[in-house]
Amino acid sequence: MPGERGWLVVFGVLEAAFGPQEWWPAQSPFEVMVGAILTQNTAWRNVEKAITNLRAANALSVAAILTLSENDLAELLRPSGFYRIKTKRLLALCRFLKARGVDVVPEQLARQAAVPALRRDLLAVHGVGEETADSILLYALNLPVMVVDAYTRRIGGRLGLLENHLSYTEVQAAIEAELEPGDVAVRNALHALLVSLGKDYCRPRPRCDTCPLHTHCAYAAGQCRPRQPEHS
Ligand code: SF4
Repeated sequence: MPGERGWLVVFGVLEAAFGPQEWWPAQSPFEVMVGAILTQNTAWRNVEKAITNLRAANALSVAAILTLSENDLAELLRPSGFYRIKTKRLLALCRFLKARGVDVVPEQLARQAAVPALRRDLLAVHGVGEETADSILLYALNLPVMVVDAYTRRIGGRLGLLENHLSYTEVQAAIEAELEPGDVAVRNALHALLVSLGKDYCRPRPRCDTCPLHTHCAYAAGQCRPRQPEHS
């Protein structure tokens, strides 16, 4: 029989196995926001190249980005893939931050409203979906919001913690129900740990034999069928 299950068990096992993750890899809250846009549909190494370009052009601020022409910004973002779409999305986010009066210190957005209102306003920005909005809330604004991504769904499904075909909101609510309401640190670390597990162990073809969650997992115990892989 598999051992104890639950998201806090997952957190404890993975934290013990992998150690601190120190997410999000960025030098400022605004850089987190930029990364949250650029990481859509691409590998992080490509995001890093685009952010390196922005840094080299001294363009890692709302004011600097809004000063650039759209073509010049697109060239800087080119390594991130879908760069013309992402250019429009990043410009939309910068205009939003400026309109809210937080263009100089974007993390001050956190002081303007409660989480549900901030989330609603972010979701209204062109190109900001649920995962992007929640990444900004958690990793840029330091607010207690669980981020859900394809790794979360795959791992949760295999562990037997999530049913297939749940909506983003349903997956998020299922995890949030097990976490302390205001605990930013556990949300920050849990998402990062799930990404590490998804990349190194719970891949489309899982490496269950060496996975730290082996004894807690329905899939490894032969109790559930594999989900369709979303990405590697
Ligand atoms: S034991 Fe296998 S299926 Fe379960 S979480 Fe680990 S890698 Fe994924």
